[in-house]
Order: sequence, then C-alpha cells, then structure tokens
Amino acid sequence: MLVIKDLRKSYDIGKSKLLVLKGIDLSIDEGEFVSIMGSSGSGKSTLLNIIGILDEKDSGTYELDGYQIEDLTEIKAAEYRSKFLGFIFQSFNLIGYKNALENVALPLYYQNVPRKERNKRALEYLEKVGLAQWAMHLPNELSGGQKQRVAIARALVTNPKVILADEPTGALDSQTTFDIMKLLQEINNEGKTIIVVTHEPDVAAETKRNVILKDGVIESDEFITQRIL
Ligand code: ADP
Ligand code: MG
Repeated sequence: MLVIKDLRKSYDIGKSKLLVLKGIDLSIDEGEFVSIMGSSGSGKSTLLNIIGILDEKDSGTYELDGYQIEDLTEIKAAEYRSKFLGFIFQSFNLIGYKNALENVALPLYYQNVPRKERNKRALEYLEKVGLAQWAMHLPNELSGGQKQRVAIARALVTNPKVILADEPTGALDSQTTFDIMKLLQEINNEGKTIIVVTHEPDVAAETKRNVILKDGVIESDEFITQRIL
C-alpha cells in the first residue's frame, strides 16, 4: 500500500538546516495497523504529514497504492489526499457551526457527491461510530470522545485506502483513549489500513505493529505479539 525509501526531510531554521528525517525506509501493507512512536520532536508528525501529502520530502521515494508521490501540483495533491487518505487529528478539527452529520458529510461535498447521497452516507458512518442519535448536534455539545468519533466517521466516509491519525487520543482521558483504540481496531479488522502517531505506549500497544523513530531514523520496527485474552 505504501513504500517509502531513503526519505529525508529538513527544515530551514534561520540560516541553518534542521535535519529531521535522515533516511527512512518503511513499507506498509494493505490492512496493517501501525503505530509510530518517538519522543517529542523526533519527526513523527513530519513523517505522517509527508505520508499524508500535506508536506513535501527533500529526497527519497514515496509510493502510495502504486502511485509515485513526487512533485505534485497542489491540485493533484488535494486529489490524491481526497481519493486515498482519511485524516484524524488530536484536536478533532471539526467545524464548530456545522452539526455532526454535516461535518461527516463535508469530504463528500468536495467530491461533488449529491446532497441526498452525502447525508445518507454520513449517517451510515455516524451509526458505525455509535453516534447516529447525535447527528444534529454541534461539536460543542459533544464530549471529546464523541468529537473524535465524529472525526473518525468523517475520515472514513470517503472510503479512503489509508487512515492517518496524529495523536488521536492526545486530548482524551484514559478510558476514552481505550474506547477510541477499540473503535480503530474494529475498523482495522474490517480491512482498513491505519497509521497512528502517538507518544503513548498504551496506545501503541493496541496496534499490530510499532515503529519507533529516533534521531531521524527508524530505531525499531516490530510486530506486536497479540495478547492472549
Ligand atoms: P513530533 O511530531 O515527533 O513531535 P515533529 O515532526 O512535529 O515532531 O517535529 C520534528 C522537528 O522538526 C522538531 O524539532 C520541530 O521543531 C521541527 N519542525 C516541525 N515542523 C517545522 C516547520 N514547519 N518549520 C521548522 N521546523 C519544524
Ligand atoms: Mg507531532
């Protein structure tokens, strides 16, 4: 699904360069559930943003579902994002004046899906995350966990190939974190590829493979032994 080779990325800081990613090799198959860990500032978000075509690499190669992601125009990048990727953020990024249903339906609006079909599909996904009865509520009437469920429904509604989540539980308490990870596991069990960036070992433990970034390279990459319940 995703093949990254010798990926490098730096930022210009005044006159100097900050080398953040110093040669990342990472391949992720369809249906995997991968966590990316590392200390604050280790480049987790930078890597996820490049995977999400929100930022550009300096060098190396990146292939997503067979497409080379290279020198894309902004229009092409937006098209690839819309077609292949669903995003989940720590701060939910819901639109405050739109209700849950409208928030979930929004990506379909940008894909020119007719209104009736948009609302039907948005409601299906709200049902999937257990929030159908909250469809007409505004984000500020929802708890943090509920907001993140709406955001998950919004990420899924276009049926993307890969879900990218940057610290999705960073703003949630431990029980809600666990519930959200259970939901992501269900979604993964249905075949969806998911990549979660986190600094919480408990969150990483709920995924199936853990990649650790350190000093700009992958320090370890291990499949997580499933706990026997
Ligand atoms: P993480 O998500 O692991 O905490 P980031 O990928 O956000 O780390 O950041 C990695 C490093 O790159 C940090 O030192 C950060 O300050 C720096 N950085 C991130 N984004 C930018 C930017 N747009 N411009 C300059 N430096 C940045
Ligand atoms: Mg980050």
